Amino acid sequence: MIDGSSLTVEMEEENSPATAIAPREPPKIQRLEESVVNRIAAGEVIQRPVSAVKELVENSLDADSSSISVVVKDGGLKLIQVSDDGHGIRREDLPILCERHTTSKLTKYEDLFSLSSMGFRGEALASMTYVAHVTVTTITKGQIHGYRVSYRDGVMEHEPKACAAVKGTQILVENLFYNMTARRKTLHNSADDYGKIVDLLSRMAIHHNNVSFSCRKHGAVKADVHSVVSPSRLDSIRSVYGVSVAKNLMKVEVSSCDPSGCTFDMEGFISNSNYVAKKTILVLFINDRLVECSALKRAIEIVYAATLPKASKPFVYMSINLPREHVDINIHPTKKEVSLLNQEIIIEMIQSEVEVKLRNANDTRTFQEQKVEYIQSTLTSPRSDSTVSPKLSGQKTQKVPVNKMVRTDSSDPAGRLHAFLQPKPHNLPDKVSSLSVVRSSVRQRRNPKETADLSSVQELIAGVDSCCHSGLLETVRNCTYVGMADDVFALVQYNTHLYLANVVNLSKELMYQQTLRRFAHFNARQLSDPAPLSELILLALKEEDLDPETDKNDDLKERIAEMNTELLKEKAEMLEEYFSVYIDSNGNLSRLPVILDQYTPDMDRVPEFLLCLGNDVEWEDEKSCFQGVSAAIGNFYAMHPPLLPNPSGDGIQFYTKRGERSQEKSDLDGNVEMEDNLDKDLLSDAENAWAQREWSIQHVLFPSMRLFLKPPASMASNGTFVKVASLEKLYKIFERC
Ligand code: ADP
Ligand code: MG
Repeated sequence: MIDGSSLTVEMEEENSPATAIAPREPPKIQRLEESVVNRIAAGEVIQRPVSAVKELVENSLDADSSSISVVVKDGGLKLIQVSDDGHGIRREDLPILCERHTTSKLTKYEDLFSLSSMGFRGEALASMTYVAHVTVTTITKGQIHGYRVSYRDGVMEHEPKACAAVKGTQILVENLFYNMTARRKTLHNSADDYGKIVDLLSRMAIHHNNVSFSCRKHGAVKADVHSVVSPSRLDSIRSVYGVSVAKNLMKVEVSSCDPSGCTFDMEGFISNSNYVAKKTILVLFINDRLVECSALKRAIEIVYAATLPKASKPFVYMSINLPREHVDINIHPTKKEVSLLNQEIIIEMIQSEVEVKLRNANDTRTFQEQKVEYIQSTLTSPRSDSTVSPKLSGQKTQKVPVNKMVRTDSSDPAGRLHAFLQPKPHNLPDKVSSLSVVRSSVRQRRNPKETADLSSVQELIAGVDSCCHSGLLETVRNCTYVGMADDVFALVQYNTHLYLANVVNLSKELMYQQTLRRFAHFNARQLSDPAPLSELILLALKEEDLDPETDKNDDLKERIAEMNTELLKEKAEMLEEYFSVYIDSNGNLSRLPVILDQYTPDMDRVPEFLLCLGNDVEWEDEKSCFQGVSAAIGNFYAMHPPLLPNPSGDGIQFYTKRGERSQEKSDLDGNVEMEDNLDKDLLSDAENAWAQREWSIQHVLFPSMRLFLKPPASMASNGTFVKVASLEKLYKIFERC
């Protein structure tokens, strides 16, 4: 038995500085008293009121009930009552019912892998009796009366008493955690747990649609969950989550029967683009067990964020069934997680199916012809690596010299282009819908020949697919982002290898591929002020000039800028319809496409983009034209280092105010002076730009790459991926030491 006082003394001694240094006898190991063991174990199984409800409801399901009702008082702390119409409990089992490890569901360890019941440890009821007062009323078939008995610390408080009873079992749990003051205190927010209980029963109700569920607060007339038995899952979802959810759902199904082991069936419902919510609801059942799976949740959220424009979080109900021997149900004390064989593959397959479903739902109305052509073109015109995106493999990553950074001149911050970008994203939906009106009216005007032209885009996509490097694909899909190693390279880990990955190359290729895939399906982002093309192109031409000080070529540059503007104005309708790049009749750029949701390109690169559209695109040949525009967009949206030098390195010197540098050099208190001489506004702009980029690399680029990037074979040899370490080799080196 534990001696509480001696334990306290010992601990105090251990903490006191004098004894901490002095050598100490090892403390004596003692056997804990069983009641202490049981209470500790109970605290793990019954973590909160909702865990007790879950266990009780699962017991009712295991007892073949067709109706389960739950009553809760004080968020479950005062009272939880679960009544069912199941098979009941025999009189002779009542004495051991609440002892630990007594169960009717399992006799040997191997049964775990062939079990169809929810429970198997025989711990739930026992645990409840260690942290609450439990009363059971039950009747079995053919009996004229039932029995009632109360339990405490695993044992009956008295002999079962005969009583009137209706079919099934009723379990009453009162004063939960009465003997665990700390836990009670942390749970005092009872409203919170009632919400969790309602949420639990809602989830149970839509999966077990052959059972009716109800849940209400003690004394309340109206139930907060009320489901009736229905053969249709969608009806159950409607009755529990409401019409607004049910009407926006689509069915999804995937199954795999791979002899090498990945065997599963999934069916479920996922929300469409009309559904709007701030929080993801993922109701997941694996082999009929309600579980959580953060990896699957994240995988689905990524698809929604990347596919749907509204950035709504999804509602997802999924039921996955696998051979029982592929699921380890015994990895979590409350069984809320399970471990699956081939989990990654399963998640990936589900993820792709969700993506296909969402895209098809977006596309079916207008682009059915395109799909048919895609199949033909994939078969007939495989493309070679080099023809797909010659512009993409070469890249200029070197920073623009400081003296040429016209738009980042600290004396003229207004010249920067951030000001053109609409700052309020909530204006977007209106713009988007007006855009789709424009788009569909354009589409109505198209003749059949024009729709057929889109096959060239499908050829470009097929080209991307055919030159994809399978090893790199594997790496990209499964790598973990570690951090940025410098301005261009990120450190990523894949299996036992560390790589440096060129984020500029990768993002450029990803944006190019996404532009092709979203072709004519873009959402658009409005610039707050239309930006005049001719001025922007002129700016880009001046930037390209090696000697910006001399203006002898200015006339020529202006003429080139004018010509390019006229050219782009001519192509405006096509650019708008297919790429959502909107140029108005006055030659102003006012809308840009969304290539990846949650990502806005660096607006300092608009001039370069426009110049590139004007100069580099081959407008006459359809396929080359689409490829050229997509490559220009890819280059513009790529995650280049910001034009402002990185203030965290040597770049800080750039932020010293001009004319004060020489004075600062001669000053002995250099540091203080340097602080004062910094251009704070410019510096904070730069810090924001770099931080924003790093965030986007981690949270937008890498997750989207995992989903969408088909890395071309050229990336294996052009320095995009450089292996810097491999665990096996390191091991060999250190083993020798
Ligand atoms: P487990 O569910 O892991 O077997 P529990 O402690 O939850 O362990 O329950 C112990 C046993 O009590 C069960 O195996 C079952 O036989 C019986 N039991 C519990 N609740 C009910 C119920 N509502 N109806 C019928 N039998 C029940
Ligand atoms: Mg149980």
